[in-house]
Formats: sequence, structure tokens, C-alpha cells
Amino acid sequence: MADQNNKNDNNFFKDNPLIAFAVFSIVVIVIFKVFVGANEGVNTFTQANRGVVQTKKVSYSEIKELVKSDKIKELKITPTLIEAIGKDGAGKVRYIAEKVPASDPTFIQLLDEHKVKYVGVMGGGLMAELISSILPILLFFGIWIFLAKRMSKGVGGGILGVGKAGKLINSEKPDVKFDDVAGVDEAKEEVKEIVDFLKYPERYIELGAKIPKGVLLVGPPGTGKTLLAKAVAGEASVPFFSVSGSSFIEMFVGVGASRVRDLFEQAKKEAPAIIFIDEIDAIGKSRTAGGPMGGNDEREQTLNQLLAEMDGFGTDTPVIVLAATNRPEVLDPALLRAGRFDRQVLVDKPDFEGRLAILKIHSKDVKLSPEVNLEEIAKATAGLAGADLANIINEAALLAGRQNKKQIEQKDLMEAIERAFVGLEKKNRKINELEKKIVSYHESGHALMAELTKGATRVTKVSIIPRGLGALGYTLHLPDEENRFLKQKHELMAEIDVLLGGRAAEEIFVGDISTGAGNDLQRATDILRDMITKYGMSEVAGLMVLETNSGGAFLGGGQVIKDYSEKMAEAIDDTIKSILDDRYKFVKETLSEYAEAIENMTQELLEKEVIEGSKVQEIIQVFEEKHGKESRLAHVQRNQGSDENKQAEE
Ligand code: ADP
Ligand code: ZN
Repeated sequence: MADQNNKNDNNFFKDNPLIAFAVFSIVVIVIFKVFVGANEGVNTFTQANRGVVQTKKVSYSEIKELVKSDKIKELKITPTLIEAIGKDGAGKVRYIAEKVPASDPTFIQLLDEHKVKYVGVMGGGLMAELISSILPILLFFGIWIFLAKRMSKGVGGGILGVGKAGKLINSEKPDVKFDDVAGVDEAKEEVKEIVDFLKYPERYIELGAKIPKGVLLVGPPGTGKTLLAKAVAGEASVPFFSVSGSSFIEMFVGVGASRVRDLFEQAKKEAPAIIFIDEIDAIGKSRTAGGPMGGNDEREQTLNQLLAEMDGFGTDTPVIVLAATNRPEVLDPALLRAGRFDRQVLVDKPDFEGRLAILKIHSKDVKLSPEVNLEEIAKATAGLAGADLANIINEAALLAGRQNKKQIEQKDLMEAIERAFVGLEKKNRKINELEKKIVSYHESGHALMAELTKGATRVTKVSIIPRGLGALGYTLHLPDEENRFLKQKHELMAEIDVLLGGRAAEEIFVGDISTGAGNDLQRATDILRDMITKYGMSEVAGLMVLETNSGGAFLGGGQVIKDYSEKMAEAIDDTIKSILDDRYKFVKETLSEYAEAIENMTQELLEKEVIEGSKVQEIIQVFEEKHGKESRLAHVQRNQGSDENKQAEE
């Protein structure tokens, strides 16, 4: 996301259509002024006007007489008037004749005969007046429409991109390799097979293998999604087409769509190739979640075009679309369907080992003093992404340079870290020891409940590395089967138990509760409310549907129509509260029973920051066996889940 290399050149006017418009207007007006000014030919005539002592209004025939008697030296003819400069006894006189015949060929002849200097202003009376006032406007709109057309055909790039017609999106051949990306080993593993396909497409095509078309890289900003995509292209040495989702959203409806068309056309021409779409959420936002202003036509058209393009090329075309987002939850489900971005790869913030590896990569280009201890740096930078680490190294180099040092010292790095954290405060906070402890218990609570509850999704990974805004840790789950569109009641209830696990763990093991569970509780409440009011899953409301989503994409989406009495509202609230209380009691009992397992999990988390789902299961199993308990692990016989529909509890 923070890729500065070659994305933003020439984008200034595209990103600022209003400024482009203003610049245009000025250029047009200036050109017009110059053009018309020259036409009037007044410049030379004003000289003749100098020193005029008197102006006399005369008739056309009088002017003619004056010319004939050689009283006139210079003269200006316009369609409506003749201005003549002559000499009278007293000095220079200006004669003005206002009623001029439309055409009088003898007049010019007369002027020539009497050697009068004259200038003329071309045009034809009223018509000329009209043209001179309307022309600029016509010209202006002409150019405007011309540009708009050009752009919607996708020929030019942006409002001022006329000059470089033809090539809209440039490809590059990055020399980034997998070795340049660290700390995201799983993601690397997942994209490695893409490299093989791009390198030897024939092998796969001959076998009739279906190749993934789209891979969604999901993760916080600066974790190396762009870098990873480049590395795929670099390893396969194929062209890399890079665009940003937000750059598709232009002034004119249809521009984004035509650009998508262009992009794919170009990529297919240069196949095998990689298309990288950064910030895909800018175009891929759910079409029903239109936001306060309702849907956005432009975005929708762009999205539809993207879907059409992805459906349009076969799995035998070696073009792979990688897209990046840090908000997968807002994406339109249509984007994630089979044959589109049906693979999601998590590109997460690095753990300790990852940070160390990234620091090593980026310190290759600078001079480090031998006393520098990168382990210490890695330890001190929990919660930071790769881009932050790269910045820290650079900042340290600048600090050392300012003090005229020959090498970067540990001191410089530590100071750079401090600065980074000050800059990132709140947004990407470094968590303190107490917070770490709270988060570890909280996440362990989620993880335990997820493993023990039938219908809950398995734990893939538990992490106490802060992720994005607000979330200090998270537990990642995978659903059991692919493409689940339906949820059963017991699964929804399981979700509630898992959500409550975080708060319950805090209460039992930390002895106090924190604000960290707010989001969980909100979600649990929402699920219950929906069960009652939308899905007819309760006794209070029975099968009666009380809330409907109206409008959908067209009326701004997501407007909820509530159709029930005050009394019913009260009954619903009471029911939600009593179910939550009930479940919370159960969850607390479960956690207390498994206290030792929670302690072990927490210990592991505090040490490693991230633990795998398998480790969670192992800890539970060890605990159960040690105490001769019958296993409550809900997932023991379950088969491996797919990568689809990752969910996270914070
Ligand atoms: P994203 O696309 O996820 O926002 P970028 O790929 O643009 O992140 O990362 C910006 C820069 O930060 C990279 O060019 C690289 O220098 C550095 N960086 C980020 N993540 C990593 C990583 N995992 N390994 C090495 N360098 C990284
Ligand atoms: Zn939580």
C-alpha cells in the first residue's frame, strides 16, 4: 500500500479533476484572448491614435470625402464602424463613422489610391459578435467532451492524459525476489505455486488443471502485500501490472470500467502476467452497503467490469490477478466467488522472528556498527509492520548521518524506534506488558471456546500482535466446509459462546474487565437480535419477522424497517439479555474448568506472540489427558477446513 516506486507519477491531475478543470479553463481563456487580440489588429492602430486632440463623428460619405482630399493618414475598418485618423489645422483628429454599408468594394480601392494605411477587423456584423462571445464557450465544451469521450474509450489516461494516448497502464518487470520478503512465510508458501504456473503455463494447461485466477492478499498496511505480489512477478520474471483501486474512481461514469478493460487487454497481450490491484476495497465494496450517500454508479460499473473480465478469461490464460486489502469484510461477496478471488492469503504483521528477518533484509543496504543487536530491535518493535521496520532502519541512518557517524549504532536504532512509535501512537500502538497479559488471556478464552464448542469454527491462529485500529489481538477461525451460505441455530449460538470467551477470560484470570471486549459483545448482541427479529429463531417472536432490510443498493442500502410494538421491543431486549447472561455463565464455567489449559495457552502466547491452531488443540488435549477427562474437543473428528471465509475475533 505504501509503494512509492512507480505508481503515482502523472496522477496529479487525475486525482484532482477540479484543478485540471481550472487549469484548462485558464489555458483556453488565455489562448482565446491572444487570438482575438491579434485579430483586432489594434496594436498598430493605437499608435496612430496617440496624440489625438479631437474626435469627430462623421458620416460614411464624409469619411470618403476626407480620404479623397488626402486628409486621412490611417484608418481602421470593423464591420460596424470606421475609425479614421487625420490631420486638421489644430492637430490629430479622430473621425468616427458609425453607419457603414455592409460592403463597398470601391472604398478599399480609394484608400489604396490615396495611400491611406488601414487595418481591418474581419467578421460579419452580428454573426461576428455572436461568434466572439460564444466561441470560447463552445471551444471549451468541445474540448471537454472530446476528452471525456477519449477517456471513456480508455485511450487517454485521465483528464490530461491526452498526450500519451495508447498505453494506459505500464507494466514493469520487478527484480524483487521472495528472499526480499520476510516474516510472512505462510503467505509466501501459498503464492509459490503461482510462480510455477506463470513460469510453465503449458504444463498445467496440458493437464487441464484449473489455475487460480484471483488471489486476495489480506492484511494491515505495510505488511508487504505489494512487495509479495512483485516478488511473484519477479520470481516468475513476468510483467507486473499495478493499479490502485482508488485510481479507478474517476469523475466520469464509465472511465473506471474502460480502464479495467484496458488493463486486462494489456495483460493478456503480455501474458503470462500478474495484475496487481491495490486497495481493491475502493471498488469492491459490497454493493448493498452503499453508505450514507447510497450506491456509487462509477464504482459499481468498475466492479462489474472487473467481475466480467475475471469471468471472461479462461483458466488457461496465464494471467493472475493479485489484489490487496486490509478490509476484506467490506468486499462484495461476488468478488470472492469461485473463479474470482476465491483464494485469500493472510499477509499479517510479523512476529519476532519475522521482524528480525525483515530487519536483516533492510539493514543490508546500510552500514551497521558491529555492536548493533538486531534481536533487541526486533523485540522492541512488536506490533510494527515491515514498512515501519524499513522506515526505522532508514531513520536511524539519517540520525547517524546527521551526527557525522560512519556507522549506525544501536542508539540510533533505538531512537528511530521511539520516533516511529510516537508517530504511530494510537493507530498502531505498541502494547505494554499489562495489556499483553490481558490480550493473551482474552484471546485464549476465545480460542478455548472455539475448540470446545460444537458448531464453532476451528482456530487457525491466535495472535497478540496488534492489528489495525483498535484490535490488540485476534483469533482466526476457519469454517469447516466451503462456501457456507447458511448457518444453523446451533452454529450461531456457538459463535456467541466464542465471542463471550474473551470477556469471561478477562474476568476470571485478570480479575478485572477491560474495554477490549466491546466489539465482541456488540457482535454477540447483534447475532442474537438478528436471530430473534430476522430469522424467527426465538420464542418471543416466533416465526414473525420483525425487521427487514429495505432499499438494498438502490435506496442507500441497509435501511432497517422495524415493525413492532414498544412492548415487543422490551420483550426482545429482555430475551437478549437473559440469553447472554445464560451463555456467559456457561462460558465462565467452562473456562474455569479448563483454567490450567488457559494458563498454558497464555504463557505460550506471551512468549511467541502467535500460536497455531494445532498448538491450541494440543494444549487442550494434554490438559484433558493429564486429568483423565473425557475430551470435549469439538473438532477432533472434523476434517480440514478450507481457506474460505476467514473470521477473526478481536
Ligand atoms: P502493503 O502493500 O502491504 O501496504 P508494501 O509491500 O507496500 O506493503 O510495503 C512497503 C515497503 O515496506 C516494502 O517496499 C518493503 O520495503 C517494506 N516491507 C513491508 N513488508 C515487508 C516484508 N514482509 N519483508 C520485507 N520488507 C517489507
Ligand atoms: Zn475478543
